[in-house]
Amino acid sequence: MKDADLKKAVRQHLEMEDFFTGGFTIRGQKAMREQVETDEFADDVAKELEKLAAEVRQCRKCGLGSLRTNAVPGEGNPKARIVIVGEGPGADEDAQGRPFVGRAGQLLDKIIAAMGLKRGDVYICNVLKCRPPGNRDPAAEEIISCLPYLQRQLELINPQIIVAMGAYAARSLLNTNKPIGQLRGQFHEYYAGLGRPPIKVMATYHTAYLLRNYSPENRQRVWEDMKKVLAELDLPIPEHGKK
Ligand code: URA
Repeated sequence: MKDADLKKAVRQHLEMEDFFTGGFTIRGQKAMREQVETDEFADDVAKELEKLAAEVRQCRKCGLGSLRTNAVPGEGNPKARIVIVGEGPGADEDAQGRPFVGRAGQLLDKIIAAMGLKRGDVYICNVLKCRPPGNRDPAAEEIISCLPYLQRQLELINPQIIVAMGAYAARSLLNTNKPIGQLRGQFHEYYAGLGRPPIKVMATYHTAYLLRNYSPENRQRVWEDMKKVLAELDLPIPEHGKK
């Protein structure tokens, strides 16, 4: 039996049970029903994210579409409480079609692990879905063409926190021109849709910037930002990450 069919059968069984017990569902069954509904919702989000990724892979809205080896739509947990947004794919990401797999990505993996999380717990994507040649800065028209994809990803996943890594991610999401040094370290708000509560955005330094400008102070600044994210989510702050 397929996963979706099994879930449907469980739900139908619970509905029938509920009907014949006059709505007095016992607690375990209610929790089970909620779990089935949550799983179904995550499946739907995953399907919509995959449809969007297919669209991104066909995209020719800006000149980068004809220069890429692979588009890099994003990857991760459709139920993620944290979405991490970077600037755009580099050479390694362009070659593999996956976000943050090069040196900056390896550092990001270490930060995620220091937070007591796994890469599969979060969702990782970029403002630009295609690599700008020679890793140049994104152009305004490229960001404008690509931003609707990121906006849709955020609307679908609806995380509790967005971590905006670097100036381009922070400025694009927050619609500001302020420097990253001024934006980082505090929560900002991102509106994913009318009538929805804002999503908190923590801006921080990009891992590529950390690699280029390594100092214990900069490393500590990023860790302080991530500790605020963990505290906001009521997650424990691992001791080892304090080093
Ligand atoms: N830098 C980014 O901003 N994104 C990636 O995916 C990789 C490096």
